[in-house]
Amino acid sequence: MRRSLHIKLVLIMVLLIVSLMVVVGAFLMNSVTGYYIDEFYQQITDAFGQSNVDFVRDLQTATKEDEDGAAMVGQVLSAYTGVLGVDRRSRNYFVLDGATGRCLNGSVPAPEGGIAVTPNISKALLGEPGLDSSVTADYMDAAIPITRGGQSYVVYILDNRETARQLNAEMFSLIMEALVLGLVISVLLSFLLAKTMVNPLQRLTGGIERVARGDFSRKLEVTSEDEIGQLTERFNSMAQQLEANIAELERAEQQRKDFVANVSHELRTPLTNIKSYAETLDDGVGGLPPETEHRFLGVILNESDRMAHILQDLLTLSRFDSGRSELRLAWFPFAKAVDDTYQAILMDAQNHAHTVELVLPEDLPQVRADRERIMQVMMNIVSNAIKYTPDGGRIVLSAGWEKDKVWMEVDDNGIGIPPADRDRIFERFYRVDKARSRQSGGTGLGLSIAQEIMKRHEGGLYLVDKAEPGLTIRMELPVAGPREEARHEG
Ligand code: ADP
Repeated sequence: MRRSLHIKLVLIMVLLIVSLMVVVGAFLMNSVTGYYIDEFYQQITDAFGQSNVDFVRDLQTATKEDEDGAAMVGQVLSAYTGVLGVDRRSRNYFVLDGATGRCLNGSVPAPEGGIAVTPNISKALLGEPGLDSSVTADYMDAAIPITRGGQSYVVYILDNRETARQLNAEMFSLIMEALVLGLVISVLLSFLLAKTMVNPLQRLTGGIERVARGDFSRKLEVTSEDEIGQLTERFNSMAQQLEANIAELERAEQQRKDFVANVSHELRTPLTNIKSYAETLDDGVGGLPPETEHRFLGVILNESDRMAHILQDLLTLSRFDSGRSELRLAWFPFAKAVDDTYQAILMDAQNHAHTVELVLPEDLPQVRADRERIMQVMMNIVSNAIKYTPDGGRIVLSAGWEKDKVWMEVDDNGIGIPPADRDRIFERFYRVDKARSRQSGGTGLGLSIAQEIMKRHEGGLYLVDKAEPGLTIRMELPVAGPREEARHEG
């Protein structure tokens, strides 16, 4: 990974530097050439212009009648080389015959084949000053027609652009040096950049590999706030979520295994009892006293009832789990439901010599809920209070409301629940004292079902902390009923 990212970075840098240098170089060199051309024509125009009348007059005025006009023009020109910028190397002047264009005189001898006739010379031969520039030509020239002593000449200034070329060459080598330096710097920079980008990415890759192996022990350190930092942060929270999900799945899997083991165990006990009593009856057909036979049949019936009870509870739970059990929501007075529960258990409580107290405020509102199921929860927790309180106990049923909730609490002074078991009593089949619960017909599913019903109502079922012996259990219900439930008003 390091290599490919690095190569990409180097490539980007190199392309950037090269293109920058090409653009800057081309621009600079073009400007230099343009500047030289402009300078040249400006100089020539100035030399022959109004401000330089002496020069033009000297050129055009013959000193003697029989003078060698071309030589004289040459002399004047050589006196004005400074004005014309003639250096005799890259720039020279020539005096041409005004009719033929033949070279008569010059700052240097004319080239062998004579002076080539350029468009500017042609123009001057026709009597017009030739001052046109051409960027593409490799020279600059100006041809000015003059007359002297009745003779016409052309003053021809030719610049081979050597100076501009030299400058451009120097500039070119400067740009090349800058380019090489830039390339070296860019390679070094890209190393650094690649390092700052690749290191966190490599750490991230390491983290992903660890998580893929199922190791969630270490969080990745977030060292920056840029995109990579954000990515690391997201990765950390994703790993955390994944860990939580896996733990939840493992817990659910364990619960499922426990549940299957519990169901088998719970059903096996009554089934074994039924089988052994039935076998005994079968073995001793006719030989057993009728009371014994009657007692055995009673046990068999009891145990089958117990099994039916367990199966019924399991079915109820399974319907809740699969979401098939719908609530039949309707408005009803909450106080009436509490009172009905109280009336229903009164006889049972009295049989155990319990005193039952009912504390019911008068202004309890109506609630929207599945009345039958709510009554089932109430009956379950009050029956538990009766069951798990030694005879002669005291049970208090109280109810109330606050904001948009109603609540009912059942408080007893019975055996209570040891702290270690408090968190678990809503688990399926969980019983503090299996023998005692079974003896009283308990399945260990009552509170699980009750809690499930309360959850479906978006309410809750909780143990309330209390200092005295016994247990207080509280149910809470939203007055307006659950918002999520598929509503079946009825
Ligand atoms: P069960 O059918 O065994 O009563 P529940 O689900 O109703 O099943 O209750 C689960 C367990 O919680 C009971 O077995 C019991 O150990 C404990 N429990 C419930 N209510 C009380 C209570 N009021 N006092 C003491 N223990 C209780």
